[in-house]
Amino acid sequence: MTIDHVAIVVKDLEATIALYTNTLGFDQVYRETIADQGVEVVGLRAGDSIIELLRPLDEESPIAKFRGDAPTKLHHTAYRVDDIEAKIAQLTANGVRMIDQHPRDGAHGNRIAFIHPKSTGGVLIELCQPR
Ligand code: ZN
Repeated sequence: MTIDHVAIVVKDLEATIALYTNTLGFDQVYRETIADQGVEVVGLRAGDSIIELLRPLDEESPIAKFRGDAPTKLHHTAYRVDDIEAKIAQLTANGVRMIDQHPRDGAHGNRIAFIHPKSTGGVLIELCQPR
């Protein structure tokens, strides 16, 4: 398993993109709206590492409330897996609570599933199987 990306929820998407690209030197590699998750997603690459910026489409949504008044806040870490169904089954068999019992479509064509933070000591973890 390897880190696929780290996701940060932001208030001002354009300002944060400018910070990561102009100031920190990341390249923007994708930008899309994931309507069923209520976010606009921007993928930024530096070397082999991807940071995802998440902009809530609705400022009343849970992800916007999680960010609160902070300009940005770390939202989740995502780990790449080869077989997401097998990993969900293995974790569930070990008593891990999943938010997603079945994979759903994430940004960049990935199939994703979230582990419940109650099973991870409070950190939101995403399993991510690349397209
Ligand atoms: Zn993610």
